[in-house]
Amino acid sequence: MYEDGLPPLRDVISRYELNAKKSLGQNFLTDLNLTGKIARSAEGMGGCSLKDSIVYEVGPGPGALTRALLMNGAHRVVAVEMDPRCIEAQKEIQAAYPGKLDVFEGDALLMDERDLIGDTEGRPVKIIANLPYNVGTALLVKWLTVSDWLPWYSSLTLMFQKEVGQRIIAEPRSKAYGRLSILGQFRADTRIMCDVPARAFTPAPKVTSCIVNIIPKAEQAHTPKQEILEKVVYAAFNQRRKMLRTSLKALGKAPLPYLKAANITPTCRAEELTIEDFCRLAKAYEQ
Ligand code: SAM
Repeated sequence: MYEDGLPPLRDVISRYELNAKKSLGQNFLTDLNLTGKIARSAEGMGGCSLKDSIVYEVGPGPGALTRALLMNGAHRVVAVEMDPRCIEAQKEIQAAYPGKLDVFEGDALLMDERDLIGDTEGRPVKIIANLPYNVGTALLVKWLTVSDWLPWYSSLTLMFQKEVGQRIIAEPRSKAYGRLSILGQFRADTRIMCDVPARAFTPAPKVTSCIVNIIPKAEQAHTPKQEILEKVVYAAFNQRRKMLRTSLKALGKAPLPYLKAANITPTCRAEELTIEDFCRLAKAYEQ
């Protein structure tokens, strides 16, 4: 038994016969010290303490992260899980923390999170999850492209494959720099909190993972509309090796006038532009 009075994760996995399904991106964590570290890394992020916050978790699985969140005092956890076997396993945690854990069955990509969370009583919401790798990027894009900004959540603490984490935090002129870097950074602060080795998971994936922390920041006067920025960035990186004067033709408007208006050299390539450059370019394109 652990300090929460619940059995070790390996027992839970074997009792509920949670043999991992690849199709659901199932690589389970079993070390509550590690998940405690992940939970505590979200403490104070976005100016909000875990104890005051409601946590939205995707894919609680057997519950290593869910238990750590509750042990570290999360006010309430709302989780969405696709695998009914894991929902059964979660019932033991619900019994140990009455009224603190709601688990819904379904596909997180299709969920209206705010609907599931319901009345927050004015509390902040943190999204904290060890995401299934097959839908991790799609979920991140869903959360970063919400129409209202500041968004409905105060921070994101998410597990990704290390390679995806590096793309989120990448700087211009690096190999990893691309659409995800700009989407992640143009109105949020991003950082990799730590790496998580493959051996921490059951079964072990082939790659190293990492925990990424993302804190939304207020839009600046120069921030373009997200969908316009996305369109320009897509065209620029879709032909990454080409000069912007060529790659941006895909947008259907002659690129030179708005490249000039944004003060960007037409012979530059996408990876040379900073986020501020892309913001100026998107604004000039829009006008
Ligand atoms: N949080 C657990 C942990 O750390 O051990 C499990 C993490 S495992 C990487 C991903 C979990 O997400 C699995 O339990 C899987 O069933 C669930 N899952 C996969 N796709 C999902 C989806 N689209 N919506 C909700 N849950 C999903």
